[in-house]
Amino acid sequence: MIKCPRCNKEKAIFDTILGILPCEFCQAKDDELDKIETPEFYTLTKAGRIQKQRDEHGKDILQPYALGKDSKPNLDFLKAYPNKAKDYFKEEQLKKI
Ligand SMILES: [Zn+2]
Repeated sequence: MIKCPRCNKEKAIFDTILGILPCEFCQAKDDELDKIETPEFYTLTKAGRIQKQRDEHGKDILQPYALGKDSKPNLDFLKAYPNKAKDYFKEEQLKKI
């Protein structure tokens, strides 16, 4: 039998793809570590949510015109509000983009 490379006591688990893996007891310990690390993922998810909110809020300050009124359409505005484009611009203007 191949001994666990981690604790050198229990029987190692042999995986045809990954090769020799630590015994089931050592792997169980790894699972516990995963549980301890979970709050970090919550934080990351929360950070992602805040970023998303910022992105969504960012649309509110987008101006339809790139350089003041009667200039060319702001591409970011058109991407954010594709259905509003026709309220602000004539079709010829939109075709030019
Ligand atoms: Zn072990």
